[in-house]
Order: sequence, then C-alpha cells, then structure tokens
Amino acid sequence: MKRLLPAVASLCVSVAVAAGAMTAPHAGAADLTKLQLFAGSSMNPILTPGTGSPIDDTSSFIAASSKRADQAVQDGWRQAYNQLPPQLRDAVPPQLRPKQDDSVPVTVIPPAEPSPSPAQQRCDDCVAITYDDGPAPGTERLLDVFKRKKAHATFFVVGQNVNAYPHILRRIRDEGHTIGNHTFDHPDLAHAGDGAIAQQLDNTNDAIEKHAGVKPRWMRPPYGSYDGRVSREAGARGQSLAIWDVDTMDWSHRDTARTCSIAVSNAQAGSIVLMHDIHEPTVNAAECIIDGLRGKGLRPVGLDEMIKRPDAGHVYTNAE
Ligand SMILES: [Zn+2]
Repeated sequence: MKRLLPAVASLCVSVAVAAGAMTAPHAGAADLTKLQLFAGSSMNPILTPGTGSPIDDTSSFIAASSKRADQAVQDGWRQAYNQLPPQLRDAVPPQLRPKQDDSVPVTVIPPAEPSPSPAQQRCDDCVAITYDDGPAPGTERLLDVFKRKKAHATFFVVGQNVNAYPHILRRIRDEGHTIGNHTFDHPDLAHAGDGAIAQQLDNTNDAIEKHAGVKPRWMRPPYGSYDGRVSREAGARGQSLAIWDVDTMDWSHRDTARTCSIAVSNAQAGSIVLMHDIHEPTVNAAECIIDGLRGKGLRPVGLDEMIKRPDAGHVYTNAE
C-alpha cells in the first residue's frame, strides 16, 4: 500500500500536465481514490496485483507521507517536463521548471502528442518560409531572428556545407526548424545520371544524419530542376519534393525590401516561399517577412509542421 502513493501522485501530475493544467501539489483523499481507480487500469509498473484495493486510512497516510508525496510530485513534473517539445519547455517560466536530478530514475513513458488548437492542427494559417544553400555563417544571424520572433522555417542544406558547418546544422535542429536535403554539391539533377542522383541524395542524407541525427523527410532539387527519376529516388528514401509557389528572386536582386515585399504580398495560407540564407540582404529581410506575414494573419512554420504527413515521392508546390 505504501508504495502506491508516489505512483498515484506522479500519475496525477502527468495527467494534469497532459491536460494543460497546473495542479495543486497535494491531491485530496477523494481525488486519490479516483486516481487510484485510474492508476489501477493503467500500465504503471510500480503497481502490482493486490495493491488496487481502496485506500483504508488515507488521511493519516497522507500526513505521514507528505514529504514523499512532494518528491513524487517533483518526479512526475520532471518526467512530464522532460517529454515536452523544446519550444514548450522554453515556454515554462524558469521558476516553475523541475529540478533536474539525474540520481532519480525516471520512468520513460512514450511522448504524448502535443495538443494544439484546432486551427493549429489544420495549420490553415501556415506559410512555409524556406532557405536554400546553407548552412553558412550568415545562417546563425537568421536563426537569432527566428528565435527572438518565435517563428520557424525550413533549411534546405547542401551536404558539403553541412560538413563545413555542422554546429550550425545542429542549431537549426535544436531550435525546432525543419531540415531538408538540397543535394551534396548542388548539381542540376534533371541532367544528372541515375547513379549521380542517388549519390547526391545519399551523401547529403548521410551528412545530415551524421551531424544532427535527423533523417530529412524533404528534398529540394537545385534550381527546382527535377524529373521522374528524381522524385522516384527521393520517394524510395521516404522523401517528398518541396518546390515553391512564391519565388522572391532574392539571389537575383539582393534587395532586402524587395525580398520582404515579394514574400509578404504573394504568400497565402499554405504557400512555400523560396529564399537563400547565403545572401546577406535575404537574412536582413527575415524580421520584416515574419512581421508582415503575421500582419496578414499568417503563421510562419517549418514544412514538418505545415505538412505533417507528406507523401513520399510527391512534389509539393504548396500545402496541397
Ligand atoms: Zn540551391
């Protein structure tokens, strides 16, 4: 019986956090009884057959065990906190974050799906801002802007640049952006041999996985140049092609105001906007674009958020 309370208290915190609510640290006796029924039907490994009977002397037991209950609440909160996506962890005020104690074993529960609002689930206000050809030193300044504005983008990286700037690739990953494959050294794939297409995809996927531990679901052919062989080879690797419906032509005019204006005025819900993070005027346009899209009621997100289950081998020019 005495082994039950920490399990119940821990579960109480997990349930409350999963529901998006903070809970008082001490559950009342009635709540505990209800929770016990819930716990008894769960797969909590601490419960053993025979411990599911009603609590007979709950109030004195709680008084004697309040310290252990506090510890259990801490453990449960830490466990739930550790399973939150990084963006949500960042959103928890520092004073409410759990103490991290490596000496306390944490029961691993499969991470719960975040529960976004219905509008977010449909992503019907989303726009995918995409940057090609990095990572490059200027990418870091871009990441600073997206972090400050709490927005996300997609970075179609070139394999040889990944090997040159692996720490920037990891920062892209750590800050919640989508990473896509943009070949190893930027050839025109529609004019490449079959073996070369496969090699360009594989070498880049390998570099991304080696340095960031990520398997990209997205691929963008350089110059937007592809044929059936390219989409087949990408599909065979579980990847979809991301083209675009808004071309800022940033590489051509290298004009910050113009890049921002083209992106914001042409983007609509579901758009994919093409830019290149190797150009300084493009990096300088990021804040203007994020603000401008938000001003139109649109939300800049990564492709992984806008298109959650892309069809492998399919060519997307927008979210449809
Ligand atoms: Zn490119």
